[in-house]
Amino acid sequence: MKLRCLCIAILALVLQDAQPAGRRWWSHIEFLAADGLEGREAGSPGFEKAAAYVEGQFRELGLKPGGTAAYRQPVAFESRTVVREQSALVLVRDGQEEPLTLGEDASLSARGEGEGTIEAPMVFVGYGLSVPEANWDDLAGLDLHGKIAVFVNTTPPVEMSDNVRSHVSSAAERWAVLRKAGAIGIATLANPRPPVVPTPNPPEGGRGTTAAPPQPAVMLADRELRDQAGQMIAVTIARGGADRFLAGTGHTIEELVQLVADKKPLPRFPLIGTLRARVTMKRARLDSANVIGIYEGSDPRLKTEYVVMSAHLDHEGIGPAVNGDSIFNGAMDDASGVASVLEIARLLKDSGAKPKRSILFMAQTAEEKGLLGSRYFAARPTVPFDHIVADINLDMFLPLYPLKVIEVQGLTESSLGEAMRAAAAGLGVDVQTDREPDQNRFIRSDQYSFIRSGIPSLAFKFGYQYGSAEEKIRRDWVRDVYHKPNDDLKQPVDLEAAVLFNRVIAALLQRVADDPARPAWNDASFFKRFAK
Ligand SMILES: [Zn+2]
Repeated sequence: MKLRCLCIAILALVLQDAQPAGRRWWSHIEFLAADGLEGREAGSPGFEKAAAYVEGQFRELGLKPGGTAAYRQPVAFESRTVVREQSALVLVRDGQEEPLTLGEDASLSARGEGEGTIEAPMVFVGYGLSVPEANWDDLAGLDLHGKIAVFVNTTPPVEMSDNVRSHVSSAAERWAVLRKAGAIGIATLANPRPPVVPTPNPPEGGRGTTAAPPQPAVMLADRELRDQAGQMIAVTIARGGADRFLAGTGHTIEELVQLVADKKPLPRFPLIGTLRARVTMKRARLDSANVIGIYEGSDPRLKTEYVVMSAHLDHEGIGPAVNGDSIFNGAMDDASGVASVLEIARLLKDSGAKPKRSILFMAQTAEEKGLLGSRYFAARPTVPFDHIVADINLDMFLPLYPLKVIEVQGLTESSLGEAMRAAAAGLGVDVQTDREPDQNRFIRSDQYSFIRSGIPSLAFKFGYQYGSAEEKIRRDWVRDVYHKPNDDLKQPVDLEAAVLFNRVIAALLQRVADDPARPAWNDASFFKRFAK
């Protein structure tokens, strides 16, 4: 009985401790995801308020400024929008011009760099991929110099691991291969296979996404860091306009769509004539910042090395209203991660932790624009690049139910996996690999900017057993709340579970910071190829 009483007393103490910690964690989210911050879009006043908040918290926690301007690392962007009224796409055949209707037959993406008049021949290159791992090469023997590569935007019907599939089909990697083959632009046929999650409300116009008004493209102002460098023109061909592009080749869109559906190889052939584009772009400069604070290490030698603990501060801003709500608050995505970054720094401070390596806490910008803030940091770090040993990234880890198991993205890729297993076990939490590997979440948030630079990384979600109630909660959340205005303060969140999660991550940081050996990619890891 006595023992049991003692247990209850200890439990009460733990809960007492967990409640204020949970409320404090939630209070950061209450600030960052309030309507007044208008969804924290990178470059907006709402983002600026969020950045000032994190800066204030870093200062209060006694973190050393880790930016280039105190806690800030300024990041400049260019925002580009195609001015549709002053732009045109024309097929030129035998000297005859066949104008295309922008937004119906095809659309011009602001990602293309060219302005004024651009004219080039086009070649259909199937899936437009070169995958040595799968012995697949759509580009073999083709001369694409000065040409526009036309391809179906999906992956070919060959066996490849999920990692290889998502790596080679990313826009950056795809363009790198086409550019090397000489292409000056792309024209994509949208993946004709029905999406896994059907869009409930197709955009106005009903002819596919091209009918929507032109969306601005946001890219880093630093031209050297643009993945689309050299891409003079980027066109999306609508299903309805495809046969106009294919006319005279003996091929039709029906045929190509059927081949893709049947998982068959696609033919490759030149299109007739040339595509002439007249492009007018509206450009604007946007300024934002990564916010960085450093918890200094204690070892005279290792303190010059850094474990990065990151979460993105931006969200999607204001968008098309859903049920009358147009503010995309991003409470879980990713105010929750930033709140954890702050609370994990506090846990280390309050426990008097003296990690050997330094820990670099970062709330980065423009994740939602394509991992741009983290890309900038990884390429232009505020500490020596060689001294960055790992990135531990938090992006909507989803504490929607009690924490029993953490899904660790990248668990089997590097020595960080073992550190995570030990850290979680120490707090009675299990770990598991990605529950939905086909979603490729390991390369879908800011950790990928570090991975591409060769730095071992991890990312996390609350885990579940297949077929469990937790699985349903997580899947429902992704379907009903993810990137919608109702990712706001009115959703049920398990504060105690979030606190326990924060403790596990703090323990992980401490382990990685104290390990005499630097984290390393496992020999069998696909991602080892990026290591420098
Ligand atoms: Zn996110």
